[in-house]
Amino acid sequence: MKNSCPVCNGILAPGIQAWHFECTTCCYEKGNLQPTINDSSSHELINETEREIGLREIRVSNFNKLLGVISKLQPTGGKLVDVGCAHGWFVEAAMMKFDVLGIEPDEVVFKSTAAKGLPVRRGYFPDALERFETFDVVVFNDVIEHIPDIDNVLTACHERLNEGGLLVLNLPSSAGIFYRLSRLFCRIGKLGFFERLWQKDLPSPHVHYFNSKNLSDLLKNRNFAVIKSGTLPTLGLEGLYTRISYTGKLGTISKVLIYCTIATALPILRLLPSDIIYVVAKKIRPGRY
Ligand SMILES: [Zn+2]
Repeated sequence: MKNSCPVCNGILAPGIQAWHFECTTCCYEKGNLQPTINDSSSHELINETEREIGLREIRVSNFNKLLGVISKLQPTGGKLVDVGCAHGWFVEAAMMKFDVLGIEPDEVVFKSTAAKGLPVRRGYFPDALERFETFDVVVFNDVIEHIPDIDNVLTACHERLNEGGLLVLNLPSSAGIFYRLSRLFCRIGKLGFFERLWQKDLPSPHVHYFNSKNLSDLLKNRNFAVIKSGTLPTLGLEGLYTRISYTGKLGTISKVLIYCTIATALPILRLLPSDIIYVVAKKIRPGRY
C-alpha cells in the first residue's frame, strides 16, 4: 500500500510506533493496524452489551446535536444513508426527519439492529447499495477513520450524493486533548492509552487521524465544499465506567481510579480541545473528480 499523505500527497514519515506514520506538512496521521471485522477472536475481547451501554449516552446526545446541524442545512429532509450504522442509534434519531437507510458490515451487530425493526442493510458502502441508489445526505459516524481506502470511499460518496447533497463526517480528532495526552504518554513508554485510542487489537482499528484543517483540505481536493464544522463532547458521566472497562484488560482498581480522575476533571476537560470533530461538506461539482 502506498505510504503517501491522502491530504497533501507528501511522503509519510515514521511516527511514534512501528505501525504509526505522520505527514510533516499537514499533520495527517496514519496507522497500518489491519482491520479484523468478523474475526471471532477479536470479538471476544469486547463484551458487546457492555460496550453498547457504555457508549450510548454520549453518542445519542452527540447524534442529536449533529442532527440539529444537518436539519438546519437540509431543512426539506430527503434520503439519508448512515454508513456503518452499528446499533442504529443515529438511524433511530434521524428517522423523525429523513427517509433513512443504515448500512452495517458486522454480521453480529447487523442482526441485532435489524431485529429492532430498523431500516438497515448488511454490507459495505457503496457495495450494499442498489445500482442507481442516491442520497441527499451521506453520514459517517465514527466510521471514516476505520476505512483504509479513503479515496475510493470519497469518490463513491460524490457519486452517490444528489446535486448539492451533504457529506457528514463525525470522527476523532488528532487535535483533541486526550489524543495529545496519549501521544505524550506514548513518547515516555506508556503505550496503552495511545494504542487504545487507535483501537489496536480491537475488531476494527483506526487507520486515520485528522484535524479540522487537514480534513477540510482533503474534502476540498475532492469536490466538496465544507459548509460547517465543529466539535462534540468526548465524555459524559453516565456510562463512563462501563466505557472504561469494556475492553476487559484493566483491573478493578485501575478502572475506579481512571473513572474518579476523569469524573473530577470533567468540567475542566470540557474547556480543552475536544477529541471529536465533525464536518458537513456539500457536493459542488457533478460526476467524478
Ligand atoms: Zn499531508
